[in-house]
Amino acid sequence: MALELYNSLSHKKELFEPLDPNQVSLYTCGPTVYNYPHIGNYRAYVFVDTLKRYLKHEKYNVLHVMNITDVDDKIIRDSQIQGKTLHEFTEFYTEAFYKDIEMLNIMKADIYTKATDYIPQMLSMIETLIKKGYAYKAEDNSVYFDIHKDKEYGKLSQINVSELKNNADGRLIKDEYEKENAQDFALWKSWTESDGDIFWETSLGKGRPGWHIECSAMSIDKLGESIDIHTGGVDLIFPHHENEIAQSECSTGKDFVKYWMHNEHLLVDGAKMSKSVGNFYTLRNLIEKDISPLAFRYWLYTGHYRTRVNFTIEAVIGSSKALTRLYDAYKALGDVIGTVNTQYAQQLKDAMDDDLNTSKGIALIWELLKDNNLTPEDKKATLLDFDNVFGFNLSNLKELDIPEDVKQLAENRETARLNKDWNKSDEIRMKIQELGYEVKDTESGPVISKL
Ligand SMILES: [Zn+2]
Repeated sequence: MALELYNSLSHKKELFEPLDPNQVSLYTCGPTVYNYPHIGNYRAYVFVDTLKRYLKHEKYNVLHVMNITDVDDKIIRDSQIQGKTLHEFTEFYTEAFYKDIEMLNIMKADIYTKATDYIPQMLSMIETLIKKGYAYKAEDNSVYFDIHKDKEYGKLSQINVSELKNNADGRLIKDEYEKENAQDFALWKSWTESDGDIFWETSLGKGRPGWHIECSAMSIDKLGESIDIHTGGVDLIFPHHENEIAQSECSTGKDFVKYWMHNEHLLVDGAKMSKSVGNFYTLRNLIEKDISPLAFRYWLYTGHYRTRVNFTIEAVIGSSKALTRLYDAYKALGDVIGTVNTQYAQQLKDAMDDDLNTSKGIALIWELLKDNNLTPEDKKATLLDFDNVFGFNLSNLKELDIPEDVKQLAENRETARLNKDWNKSDEIRMKIQELGYEVKDTESGPVISKL
């Protein structure tokens, strides 16, 4: 079996064949940095991380671009409330985002693009759209995309412009709206008083970009006019991705994306997350409850990315226990790494080739651990291979990651210490530090950890 991925554009699983066999181009709609992302947002980033890890595992070269939306309506509103500059305000939440994805063991994108660094590319795209007759400047001096001019508008979200209510003849300055309200949308927003000092003086006048044009311009600038995969949550299908397709394809005349991939919603306690209902969680809220981000990652794998999942604290505590059992079982396999078992490797491939069936993959881990026909060494090698896909960070479990020479030095130091040879003991401690490790004396003896 070869890799098949579900394409939201065709509504079916398709054989994955990248445009360029030597490199897969992958774009992910990243965070709008105006607060801490919630766990539903992180479902989208763990999903793309798993896709990317699996592609790499299958020896594809992947070039992954993720945007950071650092100017939009919500950012302007909240930075003004806090009395901070746009830069100060967005930097804070961008850093928080990077920290979170590190804790989730999400591999960094190859390139992060900040929207405010790509204003010239956005302008050039908007000017092309005006020239080609797809966009126009309205009385409010903002530039809008004319959805009636684009005969393919609605192909991703399956709306038919001619069947929309009369209001399709209007236009919308805001970025987020429902399908039934589809109208001409803003590419460039003319400055208004509420924008304060946030504007660019450009050939289109004083103003700022709409949200949708940001991703089109950055994806094309970094990955080219046509790319392989674009990911995001299902909530982005309309209007964001529909509008990205319209802008990109009308300006370049080429197909924008070959495979559109979307993860489903994450509900909490059976309902949409909401601060007022009290079922709203960020990663920090989980950590406060002693739930590790990787336990959340494990929990996500128990459901397929295209199914709606219901998060509960009880369920993630269950995953947390399972992950601890996995770590303990892994540590008990000893230090020797054998060879990857081909049968299990094939079974993992079969599961993941089927549109990333992670729950089957997780079940395989437990089957493997229970299998008496495998040596601990081979189990260990196979688990490490699987972990390149799942990202539970097995190879970095502290006590297992200490090189032999460091362990030896620590033993020598312990001997010196017992002999009360403090100079020698300190000297060895320095050597250990030079190798990037630290040794601490605890009640149960010396403990080595990575610096
Ligand atoms: Zn986007």
